Amino acid sequence: MEYRDELVHGLVYNGAASVIAVSGREAVEQMRRIHDCSPTVTAALGRLMMGAMVCASEIKNEKGDVSLIFNGGGPAGRAIAVAAPDGSMRATVVDPQADAPIRPDHKLNVAGVLGREGMLTVVRDEGRGEPYVGQVALQSGEVAEDLAYYFATSEQRPCVVFLGVIVDREAEILGAGALAVFLLPNCPEEVIVDIEHRIGLFAEYTHILAEGQTIDDVLAILFQDANLEITARQPIAYRCNCSRERMERALTTIGREELLKLLEEDGQAELNCEFCRAKQLFTGEDLARLADLAGAVKRADIELTEQEDA
Ligand SMILES: [Zn+2]
Repeated sequence: MEYRDELVHGLVYNGAASVIAVSGREAVEQMRRIHDCSPTVTAALGRLMMGAMVCASEIKNEKGDVSLIFNGGGPAGRAIAVAAPDGSMRATVVDPQADAPIRPDHKLNVAGVLGREGMLTVVRDEGRGEPYVGQVALQSGEVAEDLAYYFATSEQRPCVVFLGVIVDREAEILGAGALAVFLLPNCPEEVIVDIEHRIGLFAEYTHILAEGQTIDDVLAILFQDANLEITARQPIAYRCNCSRERMERALTTIGREELLKLLEEDGQAELNCEFCRAKQLFTGEDLARLADLAGAVKRADIELTEQEDA
């Protein structure tokens, strides 16, 4: 069977706990190529993106999405991953080339590039206007523990979370994935004990994926004798939703004066999408038109305010 990135929802222990599993090697590889990431940043940003996909997969409204904003004070700077319930995801980081010395256990030093002093912010947009914003202090800077802490404290959902990206010496990605197990309300004590016994095995999730197993095979191994029932599955991919129209709107918000200054000083403007690096050139003519538009928006604002005052 040909490999494809995918996400699976399931129930275990006859519905006493739920599972979300992600296999996202191609998406992380695309992210690495777009941003030309160091191996350590590939692992760090890849984990954050897999985590965002787990969160987004629970949103019902297709217009919604989830952003994970990781501010740890490390050399890579602020990292952001966004995922949507349609299975699309994207990510960006201030310095993709940042690196940190390998850990004593020979693992990539994710906390070394992201930092461990700061906050994880989760912006969950359910697609109905005001997004829900949750924020927690970082626990380890290794991402999975930080996200589990967010679920437990901000959403009162006890869980275990494993996020992994396996990169070889040639910087090739062998496997990338996420496994989250949530205890549902009234989860029996014996189920909690059984899950605790399996934690060492759960930690191998991405390693087993990297051996070429399918997501179903890995889950069958991890949840042997735990009544695993797959309830939903969907393909996932790295995909940006930027467009020239979106960038025009962003450019208009800087205001008429700033646009005219840009026109006078540079004669044009080139905008880069921070998630896919797509470039859009706005000529002098474009800038003049947007300045007119920004002026019109402002005039409309003033007229509206005056009417309200009257
Ligand atoms: Zn883009």
